[in-house]
Amino acid sequence: MSSHDASHPSLIDPSLIELGKRYWLPVYKPRELVLDHGKGARVWDTEGRDYVDFGAGIAVNALGHQDPDLLAALNMQAHKLWHSSNVFYTEPPLRLAEELVRASHFAQRVFLCNSGAEANEAAIKLVRKWAASKGRTAEQRTIITFKGSFHGRTLATVTATAQPKYQEGYEPLPGGFRYLEFNDPVALEAAFAEGGIAAVMLEPVQGEGGVLPAAPGFLKRVRELCDQHDALLVLDEIQCGMGRTGTLFAHTQDHVTPDIVTLAKALGCGFPIGAMLAGSKVAEVMQYGAHGTTFGGNPMAAAVARVALAKLASPAVLMNVERQANDLRAGLTRINHDLHLFAEVRGRGLMIGAVLADAYKGKAGEILDHAAAHGLLLLQAGPDVLRFVPSLTITDDELAEGLARLYTALNDFAAV
Ligand SMILES: *Cc1c(COP(=O)(O)O)cnc(C)c1O
Repeated sequence: MSSHDASHPSLIDPSLIELGKRYWLPVYKPRELVLDHGKGARVWDTEGRDYVDFGAGIAVNALGHQDPDLLAALNMQAHKLWHSSNVFYTEPPLRLAEELVRASHFAQRVFLCNSGAEANEAAIKLVRKWAASKGRTAEQRTIITFKGSFHGRTLATVTATAQPKYQEGYEPLPGGFRYLEFNDPVALEAAFAEGGIAAVMLEPVQGEGGVLPAAPGFLKRVRELCDQHDALLVLDEIQCGMGRTGTLFAHTQDHVTPDIVTLAKALGCGFPIGAMLAGSKVAEVMQYGAHGTTFGGNPMAAAVARVALAKLASPAVLMNVERQANDLRAGLTRINHDLHLFAEVRGRGLMIGAVLADAYKGKAGEILDHAAAHGLLLLQAGPDVLRFVPSLTITDDELAEGLARLYTALNDFAAV
């Protein structure tokens, strides 16, 4: 049984949380608990209370906490070389690049960086360079993105992110982006007909925007239109990639070949790393001096990512995704049968969103408070959607315990 009792006052040392409130730029609003350590799909706070982790650090800790193989790789590299810059070769990023190219079936080259935003920033720059190399003017280098998307927080990636709430106050924004409705092929045809499109950039499953998968056939249509109009297809698999939807890359389920794919989040399973994979049309476009980074391809991150890639691509992990996704969906359906809180449960693999019914719209944050009080770490995707992105190695027992705690938390919430 859970060691949590919501009626007991918090035992967390308030002075620790006070530091965050006083010294951090107040751009975050963390739940009032201080996490200390984790194992598998469980985490403990500084007071020794345990939580089932259904968020995995925002779809990052795909192999759970304290994976022994990741630990071994990190330890081994930590005792050899931490950093060398890109002025010298080291083995881990060389091997990782080859392994990513092989695993991708489309890429020829890889650019390694430190985060998702940086991977997308590189993709945006690559699109522009490619269009420039074809003699297209600045007006002919427009990138289409979709409403509800999320592509990062740098100035260019937040502009690619077609959600006003992330952009307000940061104007002037860089130009050259155009926003369309997601899953609307007619709007896309019309935009292409107007001309000047260099690329379409999208998430095969929108994450932050509410866990919304591309409709069946949509990516195929996007690819066709890109081919007809000589534009690039850029897929942001930062959240939905690395096995989360049941295949190493989400887009293989859509039967398309992209020109550029970006990865981050689970690529390092908790160690910061991002990657941009470039296919044959664009692999030679950026030459010496065209782009760069100090930390990207850092040997520590690359050593960890090599192990993460090998494990996340393994049949054992991908089979577990399917198994636990079925159980999680069945559990959510069972809970909803009793409590009638969700209008819809959607997603792919272990990237699942429970859309709150009209009566509970805007209450996702409140539900997350109840979840934490009952020993469950849960995420939202906007104010109306509960987001389930546990580690891909979560066990039957951990999932069952998490669902039991969710039921209690939701019961509590519904009773208020
Ligand atoms: C998280 C995320 C990003 C941004 O990644 P950061 O590492 O936070 O910069 C970009 N795209 C998608 C789809 C994401 O989920």
